[in-house]
Amino acid sequence: MKQCINCMTRLPRKEVTEVAWCALCAPCLRVVADQMKVLHDRPGGAPVQIRQCGWCGVARSCGTAARTRCLVCLDDRSVPDPAVQEIAHRLELDGTWRENSELIAATTVKVRLARYARPGWTVLATDVHGLPWTGFRWLTKSHGTWGRNDETGEVQQLKRARGEATLLYLVRYGKVLKFGRGSEDRVGAHVSQGAVPVLVLTAPGEQVAVARDRLKREHRGEMVSPRTPVDLFAVLPGGEDVTDRFSRS
Ligand SMILES: [Zn+2]
Ligand SMILES: [Zn+2]
Repeated sequence: MKQCINCMTRLPRKEVTEVAWCALCAPCLRVVADQMKVLHDRPGGAPVQIRQCGWCGVARSCGTAARTRCLVCLDDRSVPDPAVQEIAHRLELDGTWRENSELIAATTVKVRLARYARPGWTVLATDVHGLPWTGFRWLTKSHGTWGRNDETGEVQQLKRARGEATLLYLVRYGKVLKFGRGSEDRVGAHVSQGAVPVLVLTAPGEQVAVARDRLKREHRGEMVSPRTPVDLFAVLPGGEDVTDRFSRS
């Protein structure tokens, strides 16, 4: 027996279809049959497509032969995943379970896209194994993160940006605070994804790494409720405030 990840119905193996790394029953498959439109087909000859959700506009990468669905949108047949509801509870989200799940998924996607930002490239789409249903970090299968060269228009798979991480930052994505370490490009990328910089400190890279790890242990993840005090100065006392560099004028 297999279980449909969207509605949790248990079915014989031959009655489920693999969609977005998971198994869906036929009625759940029908709900999203027309959801995704192809934006880029086999960029650079890779067996990948960039497809965009017609419901919310978020794009994802996907194997050319594979069925997929949006990383963010759930539907009327979806049932709550207890692990995601636990995250929503920790983040003190006040929406319906579906609104909370979609908000967590959308923020997870933006945070992932920001990791690949680099000058001269527009990051187009990623693929987070487990979304839109679960947020388990140990799911690692992915069709990669893809971007477009601003000058040539060429679409290619991006490597994670490895700029010097001398910044410890706290940004706000709507109802969620996110902290992390990174370069100026990383913080700039969060701002272009819609985040508001709350506090950005600069210090030598090793100190920033230690400070970020302390925060991560304290808060069990990098996303926290805006009501949770995240004290960057407490973990990085020598940090210099450079928040002004990232405030949008
Ligand atoms: Zn189903
Ligand atoms: Zn969507």
